[in-house]
Amino acid sequence: MLELKYCFNCGNKLELKFLENEGMIPYCNNCKEYIFPIFSSAVSMIIINENTNETLLIKQYNTDFYRLVAGYINKGESAEEALKRELMEEVGLEAIKIKPLLSSYFEKSNTLIHNYLVFVNKKELITNYEVDSYSWFKIDDVLNHLVEGKLVTKFMKNYIDNHYNK
Ligand SMILES: [Zn+2]
Repeated sequence: MLELKYCFNCGNKLELKFLENEGMIPYCNNCKEYIFPIFSSAVSMIIINENTNETLLIKQYNTDFYRLVAGYINKGESAEEALKRELMEEVGLEAIKIKPLLSSYFEKSNTLIHNYLVFVNKKELITNYEVDSYSWFKIDDVLNHLVEGKLVTKFMKNYIDNHYNK
């Protein structure tokens, strides 16, 4: 976990101070405030077509591996609102039913990613500039198209092992 060394308000060096029920927490002597870690929040989604039982993966940003549809949660937005907005913006789909799955911290972008299961009933997408290409995969086959060690693979395995056909 990244540790905060300087106050993000005033730049003062932080010291550790005891906070009841929390333990030693970084404290700014200038602002007279405890400074809790700051990180971004995002949603990603395992999208299932109810009619065909296939799942959607996309390619983005000129890279050659498949990813989940995902996006940052805006300040003031709930995770569910961000999910519906990103789903519509990126691939033009409407969520019929959603269910929270695993969440995971992604250190590279200092982001907590909340993964959801999303059911849709359309196969044709209207993609925006963020999406280079997309494919629907049978659940039994989808792991063959994912790269080991990536978050998308962890989320997909979690879904298949703990939620698919259960
Ligand atoms: Zn400060």
